[in-house]
Amino acid sequence: MLYKNLVELYESLESEPSRLTKVRLISNFLRKSETDELAMITLMVSGKIFPSYSDEEIGIAEKTAVKIISISTGFPEGDVSSNFNETGDLGQTCENLMSKRKQLTLGKKSLSAENVFDNFRKLATVEGKGSQDVKMNLIKELITHASPKESKYIIRTSVNELRIGVAEGVLRDAIAEAFLDTETMEKKKESVSAVEWAWFLNPDYGSIAMIAKKRGIEGLRKVRVEIGKPYHVLLSEKSPGLKEAMELYEKIALEFKYDGARIVIHKKGDKLWFYTRRLENVTRQFPELREFVMNGVDADECIIEGEMLGFDKRTGKPMPFQFLSQRIKRKYEIERMVSEIPIQVKIFDIIYLDGKELFDKKLSERWSILKKIINTSKGFQLAEHIETKEMKKAEEFYRKALEAGQEGLIVKNLDAYYHPGRRVAGGWLKVKPIMETLDLVITGATWGTGKRATWMGSFVLSCRDGDKYLECGMMGTGIKEKITNEGDITFEHLTKILKPYMEKEDGNEVKIKPMIVVEIAYEEIQKSPNYSSGYALRFPRLVRLRDLDKKPEDSDDIERIKKLYEMQKGRSKPG
Ligand code: AMP
Repeated sequence: MLYKNLVELYESLESEPSRLTKVRLISNFLRKSETDELAMITLMVSGKIFPSYSDEEIGIAEKTAVKIISISTGFPEGDVSSNFNETGDLGQTCENLMSKRKQLTLGKKSLSAENVFDNFRKLATVEGKGSQDVKMNLIKELITHASPKESKYIIRTSVNELRIGVAEGVLRDAIAEAFLDTETMEKKKESVSAVEWAWFLNPDYGSIAMIAKKRGIEGLRKVRVEIGKPYHVLLSEKSPGLKEAMELYEKIALEFKYDGARIVIHKKGDKLWFYTRRLENVTRQFPELREFVMNGVDADECIIEGEMLGFDKRTGKPMPFQFLSQRIKRKYEIERMVSEIPIQVKIFDIIYLDGKELFDKKLSERWSILKKIINTSKGFQLAEHIETKEMKKAEEFYRKALEAGQEGLIVKNLDAYYHPGRRVAGGWLKVKPIMETLDLVITGATWGTGKRATWMGSFVLSCRDGDKYLECGMMGTGIKEKITNEGDITFEHLTKILKPYMEKEDGNEVKIKPMIVVEIAYEEIQKSPNYSSGYALRFPRLVRLRDLDKKPEDSDDIERIKKLYEMQKGRSKPG
């Protein structure tokens, strides 16, 4: 297939605001394509070269892309950067400069989509010394054979920003529309949910499109989880409180909600794979888990799920999530991390056992299977779990969870089935203390990039300590690009009120005089070595500006943060 055809699709998608029309454009394109092109096309319209769960990435940094554009078009890097400052889009910049370049295009061969796909695939496998040059050359080679318009999308793909507004849901609907019956609303719903179900179990739209085309809705319904391949896990819903959650189900299990990372363990004989909830393969990062599973699981083939926690070797207490997340991202010095941040796993579900999926088994049955096959050890245990309808017992258990430094409880319906990828009504409800907001001061910021280059994009939050200010988090959420609702605060506005207080600039980082007070909501407070206060707010978001009614000296201090941290740890009665 000519890359030009795909680029025409990109162009129409980019200028098309309507979701429905986007779906139709893609579905027509899929229908007209050859079966063996489907895998490539579904990836490329989402700006990808590998399925989202793959370890392989393209990841070309902005700076490198500027270099590539410069060597491919012959314009100096300075010109590329200044054009980029105007467009805020490296792809557009490449197209502009390619069009300005006066060169003979005679004898130029047309670029095929396969060619683009293959070069990007190659790029992801290059490693080690000199790899940067090899990568740059692979992209340059494509651009040399591309038209200006094609070069725009080659660059956008290389920086992982296709900007044509194709989210996963659009692709799902397009596959249904291309190959299944979507005549009536009812049929459409059925078809879309068949595609979705198959995709939850096999998160690769390439194979899903192929199955839909060749075997239709029945084929999709026959998709099964595969040992060794990640799937989308069951998610939980928020509950307003323990009492409300307890009243919802007839048969209830309460479990500690551990503050760690979801881990999905696949076992086939002595072959093991570990995946996170975001489908990352972390098998290599956790070698000790291999030992736990080989000793602790009495089954030849299974897929089990649990929460993985990091704990402090000296105190034996659980460590904040950030410490564990260092291990998830780690590619080197894995052995050192094994001894620095030991882990513990708390198993809570099973979805596959010896050749069979357990999606037709209620939680009560799945839990009894788990009890039979798990042999506990120090690092590998079943989650703390009680089955009760009594409020008093539930409250005691909640307090116990908070005292143990965990997040709260998950209230589970013992009659519920496991539905991959979803928050199921009647499934899991999380109960955790709601934290009060904090009034903090902004003491720093980072300039954005691309089209946000004139705005500050993330903000350093600090709390008071006497007349000093100590950092306790970075915030980029809760701030809008444009005002859509009354009371919205934009990056532009925040930048404007902070600019007069800028004290120092270093690269894209700015130090700001503590003047502006903001009200911040957050998920929780964690101990953290990364901030001068020793604490970090998890998921801080802006609630409102307090610049008119609060002075920096009225903001919350470190003592308040410590107090809230202790409260959250459950040393006081849960509310
Ligand atoms: P949240 O991330 O706040 O939506 O909460 C759901 C997450 O809690 C799950 O994805 C798990 O990683 C985690 N979790 C901790 N303990 C449990 C448990 N006992 N059962 C289920 N999920 C748990």
